[in-house]
Amino acid sequence: MTIPVLSVVIPVYNEEEGLAALFARLYPALDAIGVSYEVIFVNDGSRDRSAALLRKQWERRPDVTRVVLFNANYGQHLAIVAGFERVRGERIVTLDADLQNPPEEIGKLLAAMDAGHDYVGGVRRTREDSWWRRIASRAMNRLRERITHIKMSDQGCMLRAYSREIVTAVAASREVSTFIPALAYTFAASPTEIEVEHAERAAGESKYSLYKLIRLNFDLITGFSLVPLQMFSMFGMLVAAVALATYVIVITYRIFFAPGELGVLLLWDRDILAFFLVGLIVFGMGIIGEYVGRIYQQVRERPRYMIRAVLERPAGDPAPGAGHDAPVAAVDPLRRP
Ligand code: UDP
Ligand code: MG
Repeated sequence: MTIPVLSVVIPVYNEEEGLAALFARLYPALDAIGVSYEVIFVNDGSRDRSAALLRKQWERRPDVTRVVLFNANYGQHLAIVAGFERVRGERIVTLDADLQNPPEEIGKLLAAMDAGHDYVGGVRRTREDSWWRRIASRAMNRLRERITHIKMSDQGCMLRAYSREIVTAVAASREVSTFIPALAYTFAASPTEIEVEHAERAAGESKYSLYKLIRLNFDLITGFSLVPLQMFSMFGMLVAAVALATYVIVITYRIFFAPGELGVLLLWDRDILAFFLVGLIVFGMGIIGEYVGRIYQQVRERPRYMIRAVLERPAGDPAPGAGHDAPVAAVDPLRRP
């Protein structure tokens, strides 16, 4: 495998039904671009036959295919990090394994890089997802934009291209929970966005449950902003100030005007207010918990993932000879990221 110009990183989790179609479209699309390339598949602990299919594909195209096999499911973004740690190309493109991001669009991303950008984000022209995903994602996109200063029109689109420098910086970040497009954006000198097509999932179903999506958005918000925490202290001060003022008013009223009479007291319902404040406090504690949990994960400094095996040829290895040069798996189960 000679040093390629382009590296394509694809996370794979239980995609056995769609992989054949992906291979059939991805490789011709990359050949058509006309630059040397490698494809790095990261199997994120699939429980179906995905790993076996990836191994087959690696045996079929060992010159341009590399496979990283995780020993468990660590999530799409860590799978991409594992790919980033191994890329050899100068330009790196990420895309989903389910053919929702058409591989034929990669050329467009590269053209934008030719124009001098080091980060090219894809924006889905039409979005082929369920209506609740579209609405929730638009709302989260807007919220994120307000509190993180990261400008992305479509945070959910994984069809993106990055320069090698950015990818190196992302791989060097030791974060346990992360969100690649946002993290990469913070390292970009000249980011841009272009419209790309989006298709319905070719086969299988979405790997993101509502729960996983909520977790992902917590990663995104808390990973890139302290605003939720700071908002809470601001709000706490505001509530305290209002409570103090109310107290002064109520007491003044009682002393001077109407001992035992209903007036201001008409608006005063201690139980309801207490419920309200308890709710806020619990919510605030939850937000603090989110950050504390992350600190806890971070300080343990466990390896973020474990690799069972890497299927690849050593860099610079000549192309296989006439049929006798079977690819060899480099197995290092204890490799630390
Ligand atoms: N994925 C992964 N690990 C996970 C969940 C998803 O590697 O825990 C991969 C999945 O195989 C696909 C990509 O991430 O290539 C996007 O997942 P999916 O299509 O299910 O998400 P959606 O398009 O519904 O947002
Ligand atoms: Mg998808």
